[in-house]
Amino acid sequence: MHLKRRANRCIMLGIMQNKTKIITRPPVVVVMGHVDHGKSALLDYIRKSNIVEGEAGGITQHISAYEVEHNGKRITFIDTPGHEAFGKMRARGAHVADIAILVVSAEDGVKQQTLDALSAVKIAEIPYIVAINKIDKPAANINNTKASLIENEIYIEGMGGDIPWNAISAKTGDGIDDLLDTILLVAEMEELTADPSTYASGVVIEAHKDPKSGTAATLLIKDGTLHIGNFIVAGTAIAPVRKIEDHTGKNIKSAKFSSPVGIAGFDKLPETGLAFSAFSSRKETDIARKENILNDTIKKSTTETLDKDEIYMPLVIKTDVGGTLDAIRHELDKLGGEHISFKIVSSGVGSISERDIQIAIGSGAFVIAFNVSTDSTARECARQHGIDIHTFNIIYKLTEWLEEQVIALKPKQEIENELGEIKVIKVFSVNKKLHVLGAKVKSGIAKKGALLRVNRRGEHITEAKIINLQQAKQDTDKIEEGAEFGAQIESDMELVGGDKLIVYEIIEK
Ligand code: GDP
Repeated sequence: MHLKRRANRCIMLGIMQNKTKIITRPPVVVVMGHVDHGKSALLDYIRKSNIVEGEAGGITQHISAYEVEHNGKRITFIDTPGHEAFGKMRARGAHVADIAILVVSAEDGVKQQTLDALSAVKIAEIPYIVAINKIDKPAANINNTKASLIENEIYIEGMGGDIPWNAISAKTGDGIDDLLDTILLVAEMEELTADPSTYASGVVIEAHKDPKSGTAATLLIKDGTLHIGNFIVAGTAIAPVRKIEDHTGKNIKSAKFSSPVGIAGFDKLPETGLAFSAFSSRKETDIARKENILNDTIKKSTTETLDKDEIYMPLVIKTDVGGTLDAIRHELDKLGGEHISFKIVSSGVGSISERDIQIAIGSGAFVIAFNVSTDSTARECARQHGIDIHTFNIIYKLTEWLEEQVIALKPKQEIENELGEIKVIKVFSVNKKLHVLGAKVKSGIAKKGALLRVNRRGEHITEAKIINLQQAKQDTDKIEEGAEFGAQIESDMELVGGDKLIVYEIIEK
């Protein structure tokens, strides 16, 4: 039975897991881009003109995501434009959206926040579609906009690249059907799947305190089915599912993947971007909450560890001149490798600004200032959020620092270093776990503080530790091969004459 992530827990649940059915899942789309380029207008237009059959009659939106139907297929839109919220979700490792739409005004072309949004999309490693918006406006110029995209290395289809794009007007609706077609096409290529037979899991996309319903949240289900009677845990917040609201505010009995739902009754405010899981009983939910607390304590680093021995180091880099950035890129290429990937989330020429810090907050990136200063608002913002700004003016100093970070971030491997073998001659006394005995070093050395693997008649019986060593009634740290000595050894099991003890220590590599 394929039970995916929460297999062990799901096995106990029984009732729904009899048949596992992996099926195609509707895409979840996020709309991003520069301020005023029309993100909200686009989200409004799509919501109003593509509502699911039967919901007509002026839906009022209750939660910060909605679903539409296009050519008989569902698409979910996250209704929170802006890369900050998205970055925050990503920084928590949540895979919220499957596809991004990068809105670029046909009047203005690519702007700074377009590039910031693009950085966030690249970190999320999701496909994106460019929507050239405001084509109804007299000053709109599609060709100039395309040129500005290319200038900024956004290589769209028909211009030497493979990034899909559509020209649209969020005001008249021109081109929006084509954009929805493109979304479905990209989704098809992504082969998004989910399993309706498992319990729901997904991401908290918004949470607030409601005077009527208490602490409520919008959850985006990414897999499984949520039922009334389930329990939800998100971080350390728990809610019994007494009521499920769909995106129109209607009460429903269950909801499947890619649907946004409103759930009230959390015992505390769950944070945006946290992953949530549903369970059938309160007991399992409590266990999951405990696991989350534990994981939170472990996951302290701002750097994402992708795999057990893979290091991912996002960077925000500002330099004095463009050429310096090329030199830094060159150094990063040299340092990077199979298990280390540096990702320049954002870069540019000039001093560190508040925007750089915001990007670092959103992406968990390290901030590097090369031969540039930090403006005062950025400094204050960095201070408030505990972000360090690493300043350099010589490339090799930066390289040295990067090397240090890589070493510090590398998962440490603990290995056993065998030191020797000793034989117990006689045990003089035992007080609780502490044994006072005489022994001889058969090979190698015995060392104070070292660990012991106790073997009796060829079988490993327990582990022990050397507390103290004495030779000629004098305390010593080390006994050489062939020497007889006195020792205090801590062991759970009673030691006897003739026991062979393998002496070893654990070293980090
Ligand atoms: P956002 O900051 O990216 O969410 O931008 P908005 O959606 O708020 O749009 C900014 C302004 O541009 C608003 O006044 C919109 O009405 C207007 N706008 C957005 N898209 C279009 C469009 O396609 N055509 C026209 N004429 N105006 C648009």
